[in-house]
Amino acid sequence: MSYLFPPTPVVSVPVVGKTETFPVHRIYCVGRNYEEHAKEMGFTGREPPFFFLKPADALIVVHAGETGTMPYPSLTKNLHHEIELVVAIGKGGKNIKAADAMHHIYGYAVGLDMTRRDLQGEMKKQGRPWCIGKAFDLSAPIGPITPAAQAGDVVNAEIYVQVNGQDRQRSHIHKLIWNIAETIEHLSAAWELQPGDLIYTGTPEGVAAVVSGDTLVGAVTGLGELKVRVA
Ligand code: MN
Repeated sequence: MSYLFPPTPVVSVPVVGKTETFPVHRIYCVGRNYEEHAKEMGFTGREPPFFFLKPADALIVVHAGETGTMPYPSLTKNLHHEIELVVAIGKGGKNIKAADAMHHIYGYAVGLDMTRRDLQGEMKKQGRPWCIGKAFDLSAPIGPITPAAQAGDVVNAEIYVQVNGQDRQRSHIHKLIWNIAETIEHLSAAWELQPGDLIYTGTPEGVAAVVSGDTLVGAVTGLGELKVRVA
C-alpha cells in the first residue's frame, strides 16, 4: 500500500510509569454533566446525557512537569476553560452495562475542553452543530494518563482549575450527574467504543474566559496537574 502523501501520524498520550504511550482513537465529550454547570448554562434537571466529539488531533499533549502551549484560536472573543476528568478506554465494546463499565477503563487523565463560547452560543441559537465552538484545532489539552489501578479513588476526587493562581472551578467528581459507569453505558449504546477512545466527562460550574498570556493549572486528585499557557 502506498499513499499519495504521508498519512497523519497517530496521536498518543503518555502513560504514567510506562514507556508505551496510549494511541488515541476518538475523543467523546459529555455535555452538562454537573448540575451547577447545567444551571449556569441556563438548564436544570437530569436530562439524558448527550455527547459531542473532538478530533483526535485536537489534543495538546502535555507531558508531566511541562507547560503546554495553546495558541489563542481564531474567530472567537470568548475562549472558555472547562476542566474535566478524562476517562481512557482500554477495552472496547457496545451496549456496555454500567455494572461492567469499569472493566473497560484503562486509566484517567486531566483534560481541558476549551470552548469558543461565543461561537457555540451562536450555533445553539440557530440549532446548528457545535463543531465550530468545540471541535476546533488544539482545543483539547490533556495531561498524562494514570492507569486506573494507580489512580486512587477517582470517584471521590476533587477537580479544579486555577487561572494565574486564582480559583476558577472547584468541585468533586462525585457531583457528576451521570457517573463514569453510567456515561459509558449511554455512550456505548450509541457508538461502539474502541481501545484508545477518550471520554471528557463534563465540567463543573465556574467556566469563564481566558486571554493570551494566561496560565491555567488544572488537576484531579491523584492524577497530577495539567498546566497550559495561552499564547
Ligand atoms: Mn465540556
